[in-house]
Amino acid sequence: MPLAPDRLNRFARHIVLPEVGGAGQVALSKSHVALIGCGGIGSPALQYLAASGIGTLTLIDDDVVEESNLQRQTIFTTADIGTPKALAAAAWVSRFDPALTVHAHTTRITAQNAPALLAGANLVLDGSDNFATRLAVSDTCVGLQIPLTSAAVGRFQGQVANFAGHLPGEACYRCFVGDAFDAEGCDTCADDGVLGAFVGLVGAMAAMSAIRALLTGVSTLGDPQWARLHLIDGLATTLRPLSIPKDPGCKGCS
Ligand SMILES: [Zn+2]
Repeated sequence: MPLAPDRLNRFARHIVLPEVGGAGQVALSKSHVALIGCGGIGSPALQYLAASGIGTLTLIDDDVVEESNLQRQTIFTTADIGTPKALAAAAWVSRFDPALTVHAHTTRITAQNAPALLAGANLVLDGSDNFATRLAVSDTCVGLQIPLTSAAVGRFQGQVANFAGHLPGEACYRCFVGDAFDAEGCDTCADDGVLGAFVGLVGAMAAMSAIRALLTGVSTLGDPQWARLHLIDGLATTLRPLSIPKDPGCKGCS
């Protein structure tokens, strides 16, 4: 199915890239990405996912926009304070590109509701802020055989990786962090502080990692680098790759 003329024009700078091309753009337009967390990572990630023409976006966040979010959560404005983030984010998508399909869920994702919320997605991008959510999401992605882009920030340390724990020999997110963090409230950036531009960098990299995973087998940009964790040091400004081995005892994927 070729792209309509207005879509060809909108995505011309993608299509002209040999690493994406028309086939890549068509694949992105047919993709469905579920985004968990519309916060510091999710906001910039959503901007680039939407800008890249991902055809369907599911947004999951149970938070409400607060004034102190605006220093980094780039899709929200002062007028959004008090609005559920998933709804404000969906409204942003609709203003930005009415051709995209967007679903908003203002519920907190849990191990219980995750299968229903994530079913049908081609990829999940998790920008949530706690281990309990990230582990529940990872386990669900393995169960539903959905690739997962995981991104996290702690002060000036960022992490981005693509996982496909459902594939033979490939690690999942739980292989990386283990089982010690399943309890709620183990970590949050709220007390630590975070620099807006840095978390934005991590969010943009998460969007790029998601696009690479979505283009696997479609165009040459499609190299998901499964279980290759990119450690980003925002103070030294360095990027260090780390390969996560599959844990044969992992309760998520083995
Ligand atoms: Zn695992």
